[in-house]
Amino acid sequence: MNIKPILYSVEPFDLAGHRFRVTMTIPDPAAAGQTICLPAWIPGSYLIRDFARHIETIQARAGARQISVTKTDNHSWRCGASDSAITITYTVYAWDLSVRGAHLDESHGFFNGTSVFLYAQGQEHKPCEVTLIAPKKPARWSVFTSLPEATKGRLAAKLHGFGKYRANNYDALIDHPIEMGTPQTIKFTACGAQHELVFTGHIPNLDLKRISQDVKRICESQIRFFEPEQVKAPFLDSATRYVFMTMVTGDGYGGLEHRASTALMASRKDLPIIGQERAPEGYKNYLGLVSHEYFHTWNVKRIKPAAFAPYDLSRENHTSLLWIFEGFTSYYDDLILLRSGVIDRHAYFELLAKQISGVWSTPGRLKQSVADSSFDAWTRYYKQDENSPNALISYYTKGSLIALGLDLTIRQQTHDQFSLDDVMRGLWESYGRDFYTGQAQGLKEQGFIKLVRQITGVDVSTEIAQWAYGTADVPLTQLLHAQNIELSWKASDARASIDARIRKQGDHAVLSTVLENGAAHQAGLSAMDTLVAIDGLRIDSNANALDSILNRYAPGDVVTVHVFRRDELRSFDVRLTAPAITNCVLKDLNK
Ligand code: ZN
Repeated sequence: MNIKPILYSVEPFDLAGHRFRVTMTIPDPAAAGQTICLPAWIPGSYLIRDFARHIETIQARAGARQISVTKTDNHSWRCGASDSAITITYTVYAWDLSVRGAHLDESHGFFNGTSVFLYAQGQEHKPCEVTLIAPKKPARWSVFTSLPEATKGRLAAKLHGFGKYRANNYDALIDHPIEMGTPQTIKFTACGAQHELVFTGHIPNLDLKRISQDVKRICESQIRFFEPEQVKAPFLDSATRYVFMTMVTGDGYGGLEHRASTALMASRKDLPIIGQERAPEGYKNYLGLVSHEYFHTWNVKRIKPAAFAPYDLSRENHTSLLWIFEGFTSYYDDLILLRSGVIDRHAYFELLAKQISGVWSTPGRLKQSVADSSFDAWTRYYKQDENSPNALISYYTKGSLIALGLDLTIRQQTHDQFSLDDVMRGLWESYGRDFYTGQAQGLKEQGFIKLVRQITGVDVSTEIAQWAYGTADVPLTQLLHAQNIELSWKASDARASIDARIRKQGDHAVLSTVLENGAAHQAGLSAMDTLVAIDGLRIDSNANALDSILNRYAPGDVVTVHVFRRDELRSFDVRLTAPAITNCVLKDLNK
């Protein structure tokens, strides 16, 4: 039977007011009345975002007849009964400059399908067709997306054009964000597959060529990593090309993965300029982000936890395994920079040492496991507050150290016959390669340990129980020592500490976190206290103001700290401590 597609049109009709007008036509609505919904969250970012709150007006018609549309919960509406096709017309406010939402002004438009495409409940499996309508002004905008162009018909979009695009189902439809405007772009092929880099924002003299050469090496390295024999890019099951869309601002950073593209935010100062011999220091971070999101093309967009196969877009999808999907991706993102020759060993060990320092300086790692951190991502990791460093651990950073620990364990126990690389390829073969073309199934909670044993013969159940489901530190000193890499700890330059983190707020320094059981905690200081003076000397918002005063004292000295708590001046006697030793230094003895 020929299934009629769900039809959409999207028009950026009010650039100054940041509004898209969207229509959705459902050829065969449910007889008793069709329910339509917008996702409550966007896959890859584990927080309920209630995108439906940006729908401003909505109405429905069956032919010429207007039918009712009644809101039934935060994300859903019910349309009046109709025995023929219905068309819903709605406007979406788009002024969220992030990788997760939608953004529109006179310079460009960007949207994720989760912000603009309603789904017809019960009809999510049906193919979709989208007509992108060019804005009346300005002319000459182009379209950048991995969403495939429609293959036939007069209105089928040409490459980078407005017109018709298609998706096999709703899940595919919302996994290809769309950028429109006049960005700077460059193309390259990696292992025979087309890739595009798209940069939006004002970036004079951007060195596109340098970026494309580096990104190409990263992509080739990853394709060969997962498919050493076939050397085949993973996204060809869904698209003809992979698109990196980067929004460049003064201080942006972040990314969101999709099956054949990624949306990134980058800072202008991190990107290379034509003619500049040395790229900026932050360029490594940009390439690390690119590497991270591209690795997700395999790990989380195709190899998925069972809880995401399929996604339930109406509510939180709990999984204890984000430490594998985000943590392992964080391990490999930098490692692939090294393997592809984009950075050298020295730079790699610096990045790794920073990662280790970050985990060790988080007291919350002794309270929360990464399995719990994964499960509670929705309410805790994505809703961090002043107490988070005391209570939480990141499944990204500790997850990446678990990956390193498992990699070294497998290498050592098999005398370098196997490594975590083999496990990743095993995951790819068992769960990922055919995810969109065959039987889609996800990784179950206990599946990982079993798979490691099958592939490498190594039993990592104790390690996983302690490191991932418990709060034990990964014994990296010993594991790295066996690889001839020396891990040591160095004290910070400060002489004495109050064991609190500081943030700048206007002209003042404010305690952002008071570390549990530290000097400030013992004395009664609290997060959000505004620092006024120590022993009568004023503390301003300068980054080193606190340290430069504390450096006049030694651990054990007692100082009087004046703070404002709300609008009340208070004073506390703080017995200073020695700064915590959380700066990791890695020395590579292999050369
Ligand atoms: Zn990620």
